[in-house]
Amino acid sequence: MPVPPVPPAPLAPPVELRKLPKVDLLVDTAELGACRSAVGHRVLVAIAREVLAGWRVRVREGEAAPEVALLVGEIREAVRKRLSAGLRPVVNATGVLLHTNLGRAPLGQASIDALGRLGRGYSSVELDVETGERSRRGASAEAALAELCRAEAALIVNNNAAAVLLALTAISSGREVVVSRGELVEIGGGFRIPDILARSGATLVEVGTTNRTRLEDYERATSARTACILRVHPSNFTMTGFVERPRLAELAALARARGIPLVKDLGGGLVVERALEGLGIGLPGEPAVQACLEAGADLVTFSLDKLFGGPQGGAAVGACALVDRLRADPLARAVRVDKLTLAALEPVIADHARGDYDAIPVLRQLRLSVDSLAARVRRWQAELGDAAARTALVEVRSATGGGTLGPEIPSVALAIDAASPDELAARLRAHTPAVLARIDHGRVLLDPRTVLPGEDDTVVAALRAALGGQ
Ligand SMILES: *Cc1c(COP(=O)(O)O)cnc(C)c1O
Repeated sequence: MPVPPVPPAPLAPPVELRKLPKVDLLVDTAELGACRSAVGHRVLVAIAREVLAGWRVRVREGEAAPEVALLVGEIREAVRKRLSAGLRPVVNATGVLLHTNLGRAPLGQASIDALGRLGRGYSSVELDVETGERSRRGASAEAALAELCRAEAALIVNNNAAAVLLALTAISSGREVVVSRGELVEIGGGFRIPDILARSGATLVEVGTTNRTRLEDYERATSARTACILRVHPSNFTMTGFVERPRLAELAALARARGIPLVKDLGGGLVVERALEGLGIGLPGEPAVQACLEAGADLVTFSLDKLFGGPQGGAAVGACALVDRLRADPLARAVRVDKLTLAALEPVIADHARGDYDAIPVLRQLRLSVDSLAARVRRWQAELGDAAARTALVEVRSATGGGTLGPEIPSVALAIDAASPDELAARLRAHTPAVLARIDHGRVLLDPRTVLPGEDDTVVAALRAALGGQ
C-alpha cells in the first residue's frame, strides 16, 4: 500500500495567522474611506483580499503578522496602481511621430473642440437637419475626403485593417486575389495579408518570388476567376539589392486590359506631397493617395491616423462602383465609424483642403526645422543648470513610425550619458506625466520633434527629477 504523503508541518503558529484582521474590518477602517469612494466597495474588498492572501503566505513562512497600518498602506498603494492603470497622457520624446503604442497621431485643437461639442450631446450623425430626413452616416466627411483625394468616392471605416478586409470581402469573396510574394507582409499588431485574405473568403494566388515579381507573373496568374489584383505597401519593411516589381501604372494598365480592379493597400495616407516640399524631408517609398489613383489604382485604402494626421480610422477611396460595393456589404455595418471619429476627422479633412498643415500636429511636427529643434534642446539645457553637463545636443534622425519607413527625418536630440540608460528611461517614465525617451547606443535620447507645444516644461522637470538622484 502506498504511504500517504506527510502533510507539511505548519511553519508559523496559527496564532500569528489569526492576528491578521478580517477583510471586512480592514476595508471599513476610516483610513480607506477615500479608496472606497474611488474604486467602490467590491473592488476594495478584492484588493484587500489579495493583500491579505500575500501576507498569509509570508506569515506561514515565519514572518510576524503586520500592523493594520502597514496593511492599509499596501492596500492604498494597490488602489493607486489600479487607478493609474487606465489611459493617461504621456509626453512622447521618442521622436517617433506615429507611435502606435502612444496612440499614433495627436489631434489638433479643432478636432479636440469638435469632440467636446459633439460628444457632449446629440448630433446630426444620420440626419439631414434641413429636410429632417435620414441621411447616410459620414456622408459629408466622405464627400470631402473624396474631393481631397481627387477620387470619385470615399468610404470611412474604423481603421485601415477593416478597410482592407471589407474591400477584399466585398470585391473578392469566393474568387481569386493575385498578390506578389514580396507583398505578403505583416504590418504589425498581427495584421498579416495572407490571414486577412483568407478571412475575406478570397483565394490567394501568389505570384513572383520574395524579391522579384514581374508584370508577366501577374499576366500569367490572372484569369476569369480573378476578382482583383492586390498591391500592398510593404510599410515597415524594405528589401534592397536584387529586387524588382512592376510600377503601379504598369500593373494598372494590365488590370484595365483584363477588366479586373486594382486594389492598393497604401497604409500611410499621405495626401499632402506639397506640404513637405523643400524641407529636406524624404519619405522614401511613401506615395501620396492621389498619386496612386492617378497611376490607375481603382481603390486605395489607408489609415486616417498615420500621415493623414487624424483620429483612428480607415478610408477606401476610388471608383464609385467599387466603393458602393464595399458600402453594400454586410461587413460595412460591423466596421462602421463612430460619431466621435467623424467629429475629430472632419476638421482634419478641412485643414488638408485649406493647406493649413500647421493645424495638423503630425504634419506640423514633420515640418519643424532642425534649427528650431536645436533651439529647444539648448533651452532645455539652460534650464537644467548643472545637470546639463551630462547632456549633449546630438544630430539624430526622427522616425515617422506607424508602419511608414524610418528613421529618415533629420533632427536633433538631447543625449544623456547614464550608467544605466534603462534605469534613467524608467525614471523619466515614473514622472507625472510620464516622459518617454529612446535609447540609442547606450545613450538616452530626448527628441523635441514629438514633444508638443506646452510640454517642454514637463520634459525639463522630469529630467531634473531623474538626474537628481543619479
Ligand atoms: C498600417 C497599415 C495597415 C493597418 O492599418 P490600421 O489603420 O492600423 O488598421 C494596413 N496596411 C498597411 C499597408 C499599413 O501600413
